[in-house]
Amino acid sequence: MDASVPAALRCARCGGAVDGTLHTRSGYVVGYYVLHTGSTEEAAVRRRDDEAPITYRRVLQPLDVVSCPRCFAAPEVRRLWLAFGDQP
Ligand SMILES: [Zn+2]
Repeated sequence: MDASVPAALRCARCGGAVDGTLHTRSGYVVGYYVLHTGSTEEAAVRRRDDEAPITYRRVLQPLDVVSCPRCFAAPEVRRLWLAFGDQP
């Protein structure tokens, strides 16, 4: 197997294999959508002692969520994208 070819990506919802964006003479077809997310926790950073700390979300475990274009239109996938992968 050629190491330069990444393993086939699969849709997280339907499990179907997805292809890269397909370019045609009249335009292109999006093959899949990827959400870069992961579990996060609140963390604080203080740049100087006399400054208020800045809180931010620190990514603990990066995770890529893949969706095929068909599932991307599904309401629960839309919600997942808008919530950056935070599952209730
Ligand atoms: Zn799908």
